[in-house]
Formats: sequence, C-alpha cells, structure tokens
Amino acid sequence: MLLADIALPIPLGRALTYAVPAAHAARVVPGARVLVPLGARRVVGVVLDKREGEPPEKVRDVLRAPDEAPAVPAELLDLLRELASYYLAPIGDVLRLALPPLERELAKDLAQPTLFDEARGVGARKVQWVEAGEGSAPEKMSAAASALLARVRASGSVPLAKLAAQWPSARTIVKRLAEASALRVVDRAAPERAYFRDEAERDAPPELTQPQRDAVDAIVAALDAQAPKTFLLHGVTGSGKTEVYLHAIDRARAQGRGVVVLVPEIALTPQLVGRYRARFGDDVAVLHSHLTPKERHGMWHKLRSGKLTVAIGARSALFAPVASLGLVIVDEEHDSSFKQEEGVRYHARDMAILRAHRARGVCVLGSATPSLESEHLARSGRAEKLRLPARARAQAMPQVRTIDLRSTGPGPTGDKRISLPLHRALEETLARGEQAILFLNRRGFSPAVRCESCGKLESCPQCSVALTFHKARGGILRCHYCEHEAFLPAKCGACGAPALALEGLGTEKLEETLQTAFPAARIARLDRDVATGRAIEKILDRVRAREVDILVGTQMVTKGHDLPHVTLVGVVNADAALSLPDFRATERAFQLLVQVAGRAGRGDTAGRVLVQTYDPEHPAITYALRHDVDGFLEHELGDRRQLGYPPLSRVVLVRVDGADETRTRETTRVLADHARSIAERGVLVLGPAPAPLARLRGRWRFRIMMRSDDRAALRRAAIAVSRRAQQEGRAVRIGIDVDPVQLL
Ligand code: ADP
Ligand code: ZN
Repeated sequence: MLLADIALPIPLGRALTYAVPAAHAARVVPGARVLVPLGARRVVGVVLDKREGEPPEKVRDVLRAPDEAPAVPAELLDLLRELASYYLAPIGDVLRLALPPLERELAKDLAQPTLFDEARGVGARKVQWVEAGEGSAPEKMSAAASALLARVRASGSVPLAKLAAQWPSARTIVKRLAEASALRVVDRAAPERAYFRDEAERDAPPELTQPQRDAVDAIVAALDAQAPKTFLLHGVTGSGKTEVYLHAIDRARAQGRGVVVLVPEIALTPQLVGRYRARFGDDVAVLHSHLTPKERHGMWHKLRSGKLTVAIGARSALFAPVASLGLVIVDEEHDSSFKQEEGVRYHARDMAILRAHRARGVCVLGSATPSLESEHLARSGRAEKLRLPARARAQAMPQVRTIDLRSTGPGPTGDKRISLPLHRALEETLARGEQAILFLNRRGFSPAVRCESCGKLESCPQCSVALTFHKARGGILRCHYCEHEAFLPAKCGACGAPALALEGLGTEKLEETLQTAFPAARIARLDRDVATGRAIEKILDRVRAREVDILVGTQMVTKGHDLPHVTLVGVVNADAALSLPDFRATERAFQLLVQVAGRAGRGDTAGRVLVQTYDPEHPAITYALRHDVDGFLEHELGDRRQLGYPPLSRVVLVRVDGADETRTRETTRVLADHARSIAERGVLVLGPAPAPLARLRGRWRFRIMMRSDDRAALRRAAIAVSRRAQQEGRAVRIGIDVDPVQLL
C-alpha cells in the first residue's frame, strides 16, 4: 500500500502515517500540503516521505492534495527536518513555527481551492474603490456627503481609504449613497508595491572602498564557484558592510539565485530596509510581524515561485521559501535576538549557515563585534574572514574615554550618574548644535523600591525580581518579566513602616533629570515603554531631522542607526551589563559598548564617547576604549578555553519549571541523576540548580547544565534526557535548550 508520513502543525514528536489513495498519488510528494483527518478534525499537514509498505492498524486516508508543486521546496524541508533533529524539537512544532501561512489554511480554507491558486491572484491585496453610480443624489444630504459625492464625480473613482482619510464618516456616507445607487463600491487588486507604504527612492551604488572591493570580490568568487562557503565580514561600525551585502545580492540575482537577509529586529532598523529597497525596488519581500495573513501568504507564494528574489526579515525570515537559494546574509550576526527563546529554541545564525551550505550557497555573517562563535569558526577554518578596517567615508573612529565613578563627583544635577564631565560634554554638544545619545540599560523611573526601615525590596508576587517604579500613568510598580502591576503602597508590606524609597536610575528618570538641567534642550526617549513598531521609526526620524538634541534610551539606541549629527555618546552605567550571571556577560557588555560608541561621529564632525563605570579596568571596557576588537576576541577566547565554555565546548541546558517548588526540584533531580548515569566520559553534568531567575510567572525554575567538547557524546546524553523527560507527567514542564544563549 502507498503510505505517506505527514508532519502536522501540532506539537507532536513524530510524523503520522496515512494511506495515499491512487487519485492523489501524483500530488503527494515531500513538501506538498495535504488535508488529513485527525481525530474528529481535519488538518493540513506537510508530506515528509512517501513509501510502499505495510499499513499500520486503522490507517486513514489522505483526503485532499491541493498542491500541484510542493508548497515547501525540498531544500527548505530538509532544513526543517535537520533543525528539528538538532534541537530535539517536535517536527510538528518546527513546521508550525516555520510555515505560518500553512497554519492559517486549515480545513475550512481548503474547501476553497482558489486560496492556493496563484494564477487566480492569490495574495494580491484587494482595495475598495468608490465610483460614481447611475442613480441620482438623495434630496437631503449632509455637507460632508455632498462634498464626498462631488469629489468622486469629479475624479471618476477614488480609493475608499482615501475618502475615509478626508471624511471621518466616509464609510457610512458611501454605504448610504451606494444604497441609492449614487455611488458604487468595487474591489480592485492593489498594485504590488502596496506591500510598502510608499515608493522607494532609488539610489546608485557609491564607488566602493578598496576593502569593500576585496570583500565583494571574495564573495562573488564563491558565488560563481557554486560551492558552499561561509564568510565572516568583520567591519568596524560605519565601514559600509551593507554596501558589501548589496553588491553580493546583485551578483546572486544576476545568477538567477534567491537571497535571504536576516537582520536583528526589523522595527528597530527601518532605515536599513530602506537601503535594500533603494537598490532593488519592489524585488524585496520584507517579512515583518505587521503583515496581514493575506500579505504573508502572498509573499510566500511570490518567493516560492521566484517572482520575488530577496527576502529580508528578522529571525524567522530564515524560513522564507526563496527559490534557488544562493546567498544568506546575517547582519549584526552577534545579536542575541537571532536565538529564539521560547518554543523551538533554535539559533537562526547557526541554521542560516546550514541552510546556505545545503543549498550550495554562500553565507555571509557580518558584524563590527563578531560573536565568539563566529570568530571560532573563522579560526578553525570553517569560515573565511573578510575585513573592513576603517570607516567608509574616512571618518575617524570616535574617541572613547572612561569616567571613573569612584573618583568623579556629580555635575550640577547632584546626581552622581550624571557626572560633571558628562554634564559638561552635554553642554558643549548642545552649544554647538550637535546631538547626543545617552545609553542606560534600565527602563522605567527607578529600578527598585526599598523600605529604608527594614531594607526589603518590593518584589513581584509571581517572579523573583524587584518591581520597577514607572512614573507615567500616575505612578505604578511593574514587573518587567510578567507585566504584573501594582500601585506604590504607602507602607512597606513587610514591616509596615512608611519608609519606601525609590532606588536607582531608569531612562524615564534620566530624561526628567536632564530636562530639568537643560530646559531648552529637546529630549526624546527610546525604550519599550514609549516606542514600539512605527513609533520607533518616528522617533528616529525626528532625531535625523534634528528635532531632537538628546536621545535617551535602552539597547534600542545601540542598534545600527546611522545618525550623522550625533557627536556625543554617553554610557551612563557600563557596569550593569557586566554583572549578569552568565558566562557571556563580558562579551555582551563589550559588544554593547562598541556598538553604542559606533553611533558617534558618523557624519563630518568627529565623535566622542564617555563611558561611566566603577570598574574601569574591566577587559570589556579597556578593549572597547581602544576599539581593539581583535584583542578582545583573543582575550575572551582564552578565558573561555580555560573555563571550558563555548565556543570551545558545547552546552545543553535542561530547563524544568512548575508551580510546585518541591516537585519541580525533585523532577530536576531525577533527570540529573539519569543524565549522570548515562553520560559518557567527557560529558559534565551540573545541577540541579535553581535558575538565576528562580521564579517566573508563579513557576519555579530549575535546570541542569550538560557540557562537553565531544559534540556527539553530548547529543547522546541530551537525547537520553529528552526520552526520560517524556515519562514525566504534565505537572512540570521540561525543555531542552541546545546551544543556549540566554542562561536566565
Ligand atoms: P556599517 O553597516 O558597516 O556600520 P554602513 O553600511 O551603515 O556601515 O555605512 C556607513 C555609511 O557609509 C553609510 O552612510 C553609507 O551610505 C556610507 N558608505 C558605505 N560605503 C560607502 C562608499 N564606498 N563610499 C561612500 N560612502 C559609503
Ligand atoms: Zn513578575
């Protein structure tokens, strides 16, 4: 009997087997979508394999097979299978994560085959237009209605949205006039470029610098050789890495091959997307979370069929079904947002290398501060390093100086964290009409509220963290992990003393303090409390238009923004990033410092950076001071080697959480004992230990760390623990994190 193994978009460890009726045999091929029964439901799955064999008991039939050509290209399907296997994740979960357009198309939609039918205009967005009708105008009309009618009659037809923008009641008016046949509403396909808000202005490529030329030549040679290859493009901030990517993409397109570009957070870098569109116009599919399901679906089909060749997006764009893939670019490859931290915990950078390799394509990892993982790849010969050692437009690197907070007093604000030198530097910058960025890693007003009588911190009832005081909205305490909110109490909950005091400095307070100190300055803030989605773009646009003098913000200000009038960058508290309980803390702090410093002096005026710290001798700070990325990598790789940490070893983290503390700890202990009993020599099993964030959303968290430089042995141990975990009940949740990034 002809059988098919089918992955279903449900959390299931393995594929299910179905019988293939002869009528569907031709269309049931790996990568094709099929409709199958599952219990009382009908669901859409993806065929993994087709084979002749003995049917399992009570095998059921594939009901429909709508795809003429497989929806998932073979190359992508192989990647998904490999990803599931590497991260020990259920194939159903992986498919669900990678193929959101499929999820939508459950049985209901399948009843309408046109949904799949590209030829019949699937995915083309419909826009409602209003046209003049044959009927005459009603006797009595409001002023707005007559104006609207006149407008439509004058121009023949107008998009409804345009009318709605002019008259708030347009939709009601149109409906009423349409009933009287004075107007008519028709659906028209939106033009392709409606994916974007506006037409991109094209630009011409600049003359490349010699290092850019060399880098492009190397990548082009690899593309031409059609053999898999990985590059690590290490270019200082402002060295013009994007220009190198654009040239590489040009070449891939000329070869008729598709391209995937991964960027950290697309909402944070609207300017960047603009640069791709400026070069390739509407041949760019921008995959972001604001797409409607229909738009997403349309892009999916256009990429799949090769009508669009460049897909750009955050982490999940890794799964774009680009046809004849030839090039994968990971911009800011060191960024931790490439690691998915829930559900299927995959690393998009690692999988990007794999995907490019499988497609016999080229992978380019770019950064000013390469991750130790990528540096290690280059040193061990698995990636070729390309360098852009200077800024593209010959600007000098900014001058970086530390301010030792142990010996430096406060400026006129009296707040030590706006030290006198920082205050003076701000004054000078403002006096010259230039711009400053102040980076502070804590949002809110005060990161902690402490009772000055008994010393206790106000903490979240659900999580083991202190609550942050936010002054906006009349003053509120908020947990940054679970969003729990409470009013600031009058008395300490523990001892009853009316002695609660706000502690520490957050961006909200920094903004307020600066506004008092510099009343004439225009100050804006960029953090998650004030800016999401489009609002981020607006704030950055204002900075670019020089409507802002000082920009205060969290990590959001450190991303690759190109803001030419920023000449001063202040790091308010460099130590915050260094104190995290994580072996990557030093690396992250270094990257953050170099990246934020890179925002300074990108225009014609030289920039300077002031780093406030209590620990000026820390290597993350001393190397950043000298822009010595190579020195830092060498130093940090040495430390990791000594401690046996990645990238010189591999880690698997077993995460266990549950509502009951004792039970959760007990389960973790059982798993740890099992891991120890099966672990081969060279596999180190540590734990059970409480996670650094011991309680989250009311659940207790424990973990086991397994470490080894023998990849295969570590994998065998991880598989054994994963099997053992399946015997545990549902009271605790067990997750396996292969190559963890976040240790919290
Ligand atoms: P990076 O991504 O390496 O930080 P960018 O790609 O943002 O650098 O480039 C920095 C600036 O230099 C941008 O304004 C870019 O337009 C400009 N630029 C890049 N390459 C060249 C070049 N060859 N000639 C002139 N300007 C360039
Ligand atoms: Zn909480």
